[in-house]
Amino acid sequence: MKIKIWGTRGSIPTPSNSSFVTTRYGGDTTCVSIDSGEHRIILDGGTGLRLLGLEMMKENRPWDCHFFFSHVHWDHIQGFPFFLPSFTPGNRFTLYGPRLMSLPGFVGSILEKALRGQQEDLNFPVQLKDMPAEMIFKDLDDRSVITLPGKKSSVKILSAALNHPGGCYGYRIEEHVPGERTKVFTFATDTEHLKTVHPNLQFLAKDADVLLYDGQYTPEEYEGINGMDHKGWGHSTYEWGLKEAQAAGVKLLLLHHHDPLHDDDKVAEIEAAARALAQGTGIEVEAGAQMREIEI
Ligand SMILES: [Zn+2]
Ligand SMILES: [Zn+2]
Repeated sequence: MKIKIWGTRGSIPTPSNSSFVTTRYGGDTTCVSIDSGEHRIILDGGTGLRLLGLEMMKENRPWDCHFFFSHVHWDHIQGFPFFLPSFTPGNRFTLYGPRLMSLPGFVGSILEKALRGQQEDLNFPVQLKDMPAEMIFKDLDDRSVITLPGKKSSVKILSAALNHPGGCYGYRIEEHVPGERTKVFTFATDTEHLKTVHPNLQFLAKDADVLLYDGQYTPEEYEGINGMDHKGWGHSTYEWGLKEAQAAGVKLLLLHHHDPLHDDDKVAEIEAAARALAQGTGIEVEAGAQMREIEI
C-alpha cells in the first residue's frame, strides 16, 4: 500500500512567504492518495487535490478512482473544482461521503450537494454537472464497509463517525493480500478527543500501521493557557493522538491538520515534543509533510 500526502494543512491554505515559512510541511489542505493493487483511493479534496490531479494528468490513461470524503468543510473540498481529471471524459470517479445526520428530511447526497454548491455560477465558471468525467455519489453511514475487489489483493474501507461540529467520518483502509498480514492505514482528520479514548477511533485504528490524526493544537493552545481555549472547535492535540495510538497498538502516528498559525518551526517543535512524549512506547511519531510518501 502506497500512501502519499498531497495536503496536510488545516482550516485554510497557508502559502509560504518571507516571514512565515511553510515549505517543509506544506500549505495545502487535506488530500491523501492511496494506491493498493489496481485501486487508487483519494481521501478528501482539499487544495492538495489540485497537485494530485496534475500528476494524474501526466499519465495518459483513463482513471477509475474512489474518493472518500471525511466531511464537506471547505478545507476538505476546495481542491475539487481544480482537479483536472474531472475535466477529462472517460474518467470515472465514485465519491463517498458521510450521510450527515444534521439535515433531517434531506434526500440525496450531501457530498454531491456540497460540491455542486461550491461550483454554482456565482462562485466558479464551470458547474459540477458540466465536468465531463463520470461521477457517482454514494453517502455512507457510520460503520459502513466498502470492499474493492482486485486481481491479487482487495481493499476494504470501514467508516466511523468522529467528534467534529457538523459531523465527520474517519476511515480505516485495509489491504488484504492472500498469505500476507493485513496492512492498515487509518485516516482520522478533524476530530476532537473525548475525556477518554474514542471508541470509534479505536475501532478504526486497531493495530494500524499508520494513524493519521488531527494534531492541530498544542495542549497549551487547546486548554487556553496563554489565550483563548479551543475546546469544542473539533480538533485535537498530539498528546491525545498518542493516547489513542497507544491504546490501539498503532505503529506510526502521523500528525495532521497543522494550524494555519503554525509555521515550519512551530510544527517541528510540536513534532519534537510529541516524539519526546512517545519515548518508550514503541510508537513512531511524525508531523505530516506535503509530498511525503509512505509504503506499508
Ligand atoms: Zn479541516
Ligand atoms: Zn472540519
